[in-house]
Amino acid sequence: MKYQKPKGTIDILPSDSATWQYIEEAARKTFGRYDFHEIRTPVFEHFDVISRGVGESTDIVSKEMYDFYDKGKRHITLRPEATAPVVRSYVENKLFGPEYQHPFKTYYIGPMFRYERPQSGRLRQFHQIGVEVIGCRRALSDVETIAMALDFFTGLGITQTKVVINSLGSRQNRQKYRQALIDYLRPLENQLSDNSRRRLKQNPLRVLDSKDKEDQKIVQQAPSIIDYLDEESQCFFSEVQQHLTKLGITFEVDPLMVRGLDYYNHTVFEIMSDAAGFDGVLTTICAGGRYDGLIREFEGPAEFDNGFGFAIGIERMLIAMEAENGYQVQAESPDVYIADLTPEAGVVSLKLATIIRQNTLIAKCDYLARNLKSHMRLANKLGAILVMMIGSEELAGNNVKIRNMKTGVEELVSLAEIESDFLSTYYKMINL
Ligand code: ATP
Ligand code: MG
Repeated sequence: MKYQKPKGTIDILPSDSATWQYIEEAARKTFGRYDFHEIRTPVFEHFDVISRGVGESTDIVSKEMYDFYDKGKRHITLRPEATAPVVRSYVENKLFGPEYQHPFKTYYIGPMFRYERPQSGRLRQFHQIGVEVIGCRRALSDVETIAMALDFFTGLGITQTKVVINSLGSRQNRQKYRQALIDYLRPLENQLSDNSRRRLKQNPLRVLDSKDKEDQKIVQQAPSIIDYLDEESQCFFSEVQQHLTKLGITFEVDPLMVRGLDYYNHTVFEIMSDAAGFDGVLTTICAGGRYDGLIREFEGPAEFDNGFGFAIGIERMLIAMEAENGYQVQAESPDVYIADLTPEAGVVSLKLATIIRQNTLIAKCDYLARNLKSHMRLANKLGAILVMMIGSEELAGNNVKIRNMKTGVEELVSLAEIESDFLSTYYKMINL
């Protein structure tokens, strides 16, 4: 094959897109009930928006960016995530103004780009459904948003999930912890993987996230961030836990979970799935947390400098969904299948199809000059409700033969009747 899609991308084929549309529709409905409204930002952004928001030393910015200089010599990147772009848009469009919703609650659905090593559930162009709440400092907001993610998953039949939470405390707490972690890891530096040694210098908290088995053993004994939280952060974290418990949401606290983006503080969380599709490996399908401070980073007002959000990887969620309930959404069946049985019937079929579609029903006719047997086989396979047959005899009499596919009842109906009031004919036929 001469032409292939770029590595790490997928074609979402027409046979799959009904499932994607179903998921997107479910997201819109669920998030709408929680008063979230959609935002659509560009798929590319100024490089600085991402490097400033996500953090220079994160894997995303240091290794995974699809960045380039455009013809006007601007440093541009395809977006690797959407929290920084949403905050950029919030500040740029002054969405904190009195005429807008407070707190600002928004969601997005769309492609993200990261230059990673492609593997199952890890692509270079992937898709996220994400939400952001900007301008609420209370733990209730964290908990409502986590509950919404679970509500969304449950609605799609994804129930083999585990909620894991942690607190990174305030920026100051994190700074203190960072030093404690460096002090612990430095003497063990020689035993760490190359990747973790690099992280230890650039972004030590990321060592906790290492996927290397030996690193993980070392990390197990590392100091816990929970011990470095000040009183206020501790209170906030215990509030989150109490509210989750009140809502009946089971969760685990993992003090080693730190997340890969620099902007997080206080609550971070992941929803993991152990559905069969992941071969027994617990896999993160949704991740997020609180990002107080990011709005000011983008020169937004201090008064609204609180945020909480999450992102769901659609491709990974699909693996879970299909493994749990074998769910495959089918495209809609035609209401009427038109079988043109002679070349002269073609234009009559076209006219009938147009009338049917103008009545907001689905008509199928393909002008491939099939014979009756082939037409009927296809109509059956597609689950057509009615079949209209037009052969030489029907043409000569200005009629159409209509068959109710469920009951097998057939009627000869005049073209004039169909043209003057198609819906009456349709309802008469489906009830025969
Ligand atoms: P990981 O540790 O797996 O690389 P991450 O911390 O980079 O994840 P986030 O940036 O928090 O992930 O993104 C949120 C979600 O988006 C992830 O939980 C995952 O479901 C999905 N996701 C992230 N990167 C990819 C990718 N390259 N391909 C497919 N889905 C992805
Ligand atoms: Mg990653």
